[in-house]
Amino acid sequence: MHSLTKTALSFNGIGRRCVALNRFSETRIICRGLTCTAEHGEHENELYDVIISGGGMVGTAMACSLGLDPNLEGKKILLLEAGNKKVMDKVPDAYSTRVSSISPGSATLLSGVGAWDHIMNMRCKPYQKMQVWDACSDALITFDKENLQDEMAYIVENNIIVAALTKQLENLSDQVRVQYKSKVVKYTWPKSHQVADAIPWVQVTLANGQTLQTKLLIGADGPNSMVRQEAGIPTVKWNYDQSAVVAVLHLSEPTENNVAWQRFLPTGPIAMLPLSDTESSLVWSTSHRHAEELLQLDEESFVDSINTAFWSNENHSELVETAGSLFRTALSVLMPSAGSARQLPPSVAGIGPKSRVMFPLGMGHASEYIRHRVALIGDAAHRVHPLAGQGANLGFGDVACLTQLLSQAAFNGKDLGTMQHLLEYETERQRHNLPMMAAIDLMKRLYSTNAAPMVVLRTFGLQATNTLPAMKAQIMAFASK
Ligand SMILES: Cc1cc2nc3c(=O)[nH]c(=O)nc-3n(C[C@H](O)[C@H](O)[C@H](O)COP(=O)(O)OP(=O)(O)OC[C@H]3O[C@@H](n4cnc5c(N)ncnc54)[C@H](O)[C@@H]3O)c2cc1C
Repeated sequence: MHSLTKTALSFNGIGRRCVALNRFSETRIICRGLTCTAEHGEHENELYDVIISGGGMVGTAMACSLGLDPNLEGKKILLLEAGNKKVMDKVPDAYSTRVSSISPGSATLLSGVGAWDHIMNMRCKPYQKMQVWDACSDALITFDKENLQDEMAYIVENNIIVAALTKQLENLSDQVRVQYKSKVVKYTWPKSHQVADAIPWVQVTLANGQTLQTKLLIGADGPNSMVRQEAGIPTVKWNYDQSAVVAVLHLSEPTENNVAWQRFLPTGPIAMLPLSDTESSLVWSTSHRHAEELLQLDEESFVDSINTAFWSNENHSELVETAGSLFRTALSVLMPSAGSARQLPPSVAGIGPKSRVMFPLGMGHASEYIRHRVALIGDAAHRVHPLAGQGANLGFGDVACLTQLLSQAAFNGKDLGTMQHLLEYETERQRHNLPMMAAIDLMKRLYSTNAAPMVVLRTFGLQATNTLPAMKAQIMAFASK
């Protein structure tokens, strides 16, 4: 039962008997003296303004963001999560293998919902530079903030992001109810008014048999979204021929470690993302078979494979090197001060205990993000290859956009589940997400070959882009939203 301190109490006698109408329960709660009993099944068929299905990074951020919005004060908001509550009383000594590169735009959102301070107090590593280079040629591109004082992005463990948001949700318990271990097993969509006994709301059935109703259902239930599937929303998706092997890496010596490194091998990109002066996080996308082999290797051979992947020039060819070097010379004549020097990544000495895990990779895009009384956010709407570190960032962008439109709708006294503002959400987000997804997919394809003409083409492209500061600034601005 929701805490009575948060209920509006109407007294029928001084402190002896009261009837409480809890905002989170239309059940009449009768209190006699200090004892409270619910007259009906608790929360059964309760009507909410918003139910968010899925409490991962994106769904939990959505719950905080709606809970904090002043125009949504008084709305009944519920977050449903199939898993356990993720609290973190003490940050574990060992880093988690699951990390995300968080853009400045996402950091602003997390700061706006009050979670960023918790993240900074727990653990987070800013970086100022990124170097991306081709294993088949000398082509490279670097991105940095000119004065090296601003942060380009932050590496944060996923469980720290969720724990920080969860902590913040605890402060919002007046605004947002949260139910953990609550797996949704069925959604029943509103029917037309002509149908007898039609329910105008979305009905949500939980695995424990509980049913709830909502004026707006937000699907934040990840890449295999049941909301998306049951709503019959068409989705373009395919599996990549790659899995990502992730691990925590111990560096051979302490460094400033403020650079994110990514090298494109013909089998897929390998990235080393800073965690601390002595540790980094590995995301190595490669063929499924190779990924499985990497998981089986003993630690020493695994570490050797990583160092070879970052350092070896075995994929270079004479033809590409000659073409690349001629093109570089031409560029240096045209733009003598442009370009940037190659830096070498730190070498790896070991890995964290039991830290190797692999994930199959795929891409997916819901052709519609909305239906009447339904909106999709995060991986439920779009799933991307991790090579650009954008998946969660796109999801946080959805959260910011949907909050703003729902806030406006509430301010104007509108029903939150109607199409008008939901359409605006879809248009705005697809305009941002689709070009990003197309660019990521193109990069994946462009770099998945060592055929000489393609390597020469991308070598010229990368080298030319590296000499154009204005273009690099535009790429950085787009990726940092
Ligand atoms: C190797 C790798 C590296 C990555 N690196 C980055 C990066 O650097 N930067 C970045 O921005 N992104 C990155 N991503 C992408 C990022 O991890 C995802 O985009 C992000 O986790 C999606 O979050 P989400 O909350 O939308 O979905 P999820 O994390 O999938 O969460 C969905 C939640 O819904 C719950 N749920 C599902 N079904 C139900 C149900 N029926 N009832 C109730 N609850 C339900 C689940 O329990 C889960 O908690 C990476 C991904 C991978 C694989």
